[in-house]
Order: sequence, then structure tokens, then C-alpha cells
Amino acid sequence: MELLSNFINGAYVNPKSNNYLDVFEPATGQVYCQVPNSNGDDIHLAVNSAIDAFPEWSSLSLDERSVFLNTIAEMIESRLDEFAKYESRDTGKPISLARSVDIPRAVSNFRFFAEYASQFEFEFNINNDSSHNTVIRSPLGPVACISPWNLPLYLFTWKIAPALITGNTVVAKPSELTPFTAFKFGEICKDAGLPAGVLNIIHGQGMTAGDALISHSGIKAISFTGGTDTGKVIATKSAPMFKKISLEMGGKNPAVVFSDCDYDTMLETVVKSSFSNQGQICLCSSRIMVEENIYNKFRKDFVEKVSALIVGDPIEDSTQIGSITSKPHLDKVMTYIELAQEEGGTILTGGKPVTIKGRCEGGWFVEPTVIDGLINSCRTNQEEIFGPIVTIIPFKDEGEAIDISNDTEYGLSATIWTEDIDKATRLARNIDAGVIWINCWLVRDLRTPFGGMKQSGMGREGGTEILNFFTEPKNICEQIS
Ligand code: NAD
Repeated sequence: MELLSNFINGAYVNPKSNNYLDVFEPATGQVYCQVPNSNGDDIHLAVNSAIDAFPEWSSLSLDERSVFLNTIAEMIESRLDEFAKYESRDTGKPISLARSVDIPRAVSNFRFFAEYASQFEFEFNINNDSSHNTVIRSPLGPVACISPWNLPLYLFTWKIAPALITGNTVVAKPSELTPFTAFKFGEICKDAGLPAGVLNIIHGQGMTAGDALISHSGIKAISFTGGTDTGKVIATKSAPMFKKISLEMGGKNPAVVFSDCDYDTMLETVVKSSFSNQGQICLCSSRIMVEENIYNKFRKDFVEKVSALIVGDPIEDSTQIGSITSKPHLDKVMTYIELAQEEGGTILTGGKPVTIKGRCEGGWFVEPTVIDGLINSCRTNQEEIFGPIVTIIPFKDEGEAIDISNDTEYGLSATIWTEDIDKATRLARNIDAGVIWINCWLVRDLRTPFGGMKQSGMGREGGTEILNFFTEPKNICEQIS
């Protein structure tokens, strides 16, 4: 069985304890490799290597750092198919999705920041009659980047690229459930000639490796994406050490459908926004709110489309719904299907595990599920499920649509469907979410701020926001009269 290793100071190294965790292929339910179960000793080594690499890396020019980022982008791109296969095997996502979204986006993350940072004001002046002020933004030092299992390389690189371009060195920890592309990313760094210690990749569990990383005094900032409960732990532990933190967390996103929308486009996109990656995208719609006068029509058409989705082996090009990424997560999803029924919901389609004949017989599949008949205040509509389950909820008018949208502790994203742009704009301004889409979903310009409000996030990623996060401003004031 293949044993993965940490990537520290430019080399692959085994964990000090020689302890490993099983990594499963969710489509088969079988263990296919093992990943280091790193502890504080491994973290210490990685942070020290990031500390040692910092002076030289941070003193390179922006152009010099950009060359490394562009080379990394090229190298991922040249191995796109290979990386897509790894990502699909680790997560259970359809290979078509890994090939068209996950890996291309990892490439774009590096290309984008290599280019965009040249527009960032690392230094600027504010002058008046009595003083000249020079504001400089400097890198922080070694930073931690911690990412989840749903979009492994996509989110891993979304943090690493801006951290590196601004001159920080990094200790990055991918999810222990989906470590393979991050493991292989060490090869890309070596081939790109990235100086040793600039990026260190540590594997292991959140409670041990993750905890040792966020608690290490050498780490100046933590960029985290994952669950809200983990975000709370990170916020609590890092506060007394005054570390900078950026937290991207869970969601319970509404899709608001008005009767005056472009119906066919809406229907097709809402199916995608609900079930892409088995509903395991933080931005997926989970509460589909539909204007009363088209509720029955929508319910019939939506259910028809959802029940036609092909659940299958992720390596088949025809598969639209792959497997759930872990067995505990499958169990959680099934628990919510039971809960929804206890709360009075009706399952309109789906609701059952799926057995796929052949190599995937032991895999963790569940039917895409649509539920109605639930009030918004019930647990099914309030708690993040993060799986292929949506509820549909009728609403009367604009006011009620806003109220239901905001009646949640989360505030990550929302999607609004109407041809009346004034109405859409009113809703967009009144819904408490960090990312709002009008008549589209998952369209991203990487310059825009990304993140959530309320319990969905603290801080923003993307564009200038994340470059600000990974730098510290200093004002140098000189009196001139
Ligand atoms: P998780 O919080 O369990 O784990 C995320 C990462 O944090 C993993 O690498 C894990 O090992 C690490 N971790 C866990 N406990 C830790 C601790 N105490 N200290 C330090 N690190 C720790 O989340 P998950 O189950 O991997 O991912 C699913 C969640 O991620 C969902 O809630 C989803 O909404 C959220 N998510 C949010 C976004 C966003 O941009 N807002 C994007 C993707 C996923």
C-alpha cells in the first residue's frame, strides 16, 4: 500500500512518529493508501523550515515570485488529467467535474495571483502640507493554510497562491480525508524550483496536526476553510496569540425563484447549484424558495430533472452524481433524511442509498433528494447538511423571500432568479450573504471579494481582500514643515 509523506524543506519526509491514517476511495469504500498522522514534532519541523525560508523568499521581487507561480500553474496544467484522476479518486466526485472545475481552477489560482499582485499597492504615499506618509504593506512571515475535503486542490491553492505572492512562507494542511493532490503538489513545487521551505505540506488530523499548527508561535496568520464548529475552535485558540485569521465556513444558501424568471435556464442551473459535487460545495443551494404561483409547476419539473441525474462510478464520463466523500458523512446525510421526515417533510424524489454494481459495490452513494412540506425554522432547514439534499419552500412576495433567506445563522451565498433587475437588486441588497448571484450560479471573477457573513465567515478571500490579509500595513510619517 502506498505511504504518503509530508513535504518539508523541499523534501518528502516520513512523520516522526511513523504513524499513518487510512485513506479511502469513497466510490469503492476501500482503503487505497495511507497518509501521515503528523504530530507536533512534524509541525515544528515544518514551521522552522518556513521560518528559515522567509528572509530570502520575502526579499525576492514581485516579478521573481510571479515567475515561480506561473511555472507552478504551467506544471499543474501539464498534468491536468493525472491530477483530475487523483481528485476524483480521493473525493468521489465525477471525473468530468475534477477535469473541468477543480484542477483548472487550481491552475487559475496561481496564474491569477501571479498577474493580479502587480496591481496591488504594496507601497503608496499620502501627503499633506505638513507631512509625507509612506504606507508599506509587508508579508507576515510563516502562515498556515488549512483546507477541507470538498474541493481539495482548488481550495488548497486558493490560499497558498496569494500567501506566496505576497512574500509569506507557508505551512499548509489539506484534509486528512483527501490528501492525494496536495501530496503530489510537492512534486510540482520541486519541479518548479520553488526554494526549499517556502511551502511545506503537512498531513494529519485536525485535532492533532491542525491544532499544533494553529497553536505554533511561529505561525503569524491562519487562513482556514472548513466547518463552522472548527472555525470557532480556531478563533478561540488563536485570539490570545493575536494571530490574524480568515475563516471561510458553512452555509445554508437560498435560491430564490420568482415566476418572472427565464424558467428553463433557472431550472437547469438550480439543478446544478443544488447537486454539483453531490451538494458538497459550500456555495450549493440548499433551500430552494419558489414563488407561490409557480410552486406546483416548479416542483414537478424540478423533481423530474433531479430524478434523471445519473448516479454512478466517478470515473465514468457519463456520471453526474458521484459518491459522498466519507462514510461518516454519508451517515450524517442519511440522518438528515430521516430527520426531515420526522419533522413532517415529504420526500419527492431520492432519499435512499444507492448500490452501484461492479467495482463500486461498497461505495458511499446516495440518491439526489428533494424534500418539501417543511417550515424554514425546522432543523433540516437550519443546519448545514452539505450533501445532495435540498428542500423546496414556497413564498408569497419579495418581503417574505428576504425574511426566509435571512432566517438562518449562516450568510454565505444566495441566488436570485427574476427578469426584473430592480427587484433582483433590492433582494440582493437585503439578503445577508457575502456572495449573491442574479440569474446565474458559481460565476466567479477572482478579483471580487469571496466569503460569508454571520456564522459563514470572518474576513474575505479573493482579489485585494486576501492580499491585504496576507500583508501588514505600516505607516512611515515624516514631518515636512
Ligand atoms: P472541517 O472543519 O472538519 O475540516 C477542515 C480542515 O480543518 C481539515 O484540514 C481539518 O483537518 C482541519 N481541522 C479540523 N479541526 C481542526 C482544529 N481543531 N484545528 C486546526 N485544524 C483543524 O471541515 P470539512 O468537513 O473538511 O469541510 C466541510 C465544511 O467546509 C463544510 O462546513 C463546508 O461548508 C465548509 N466549506 C466552506 C467553504 C467556504 O468557502 N466558505 C468552502 C468549502 C467548504
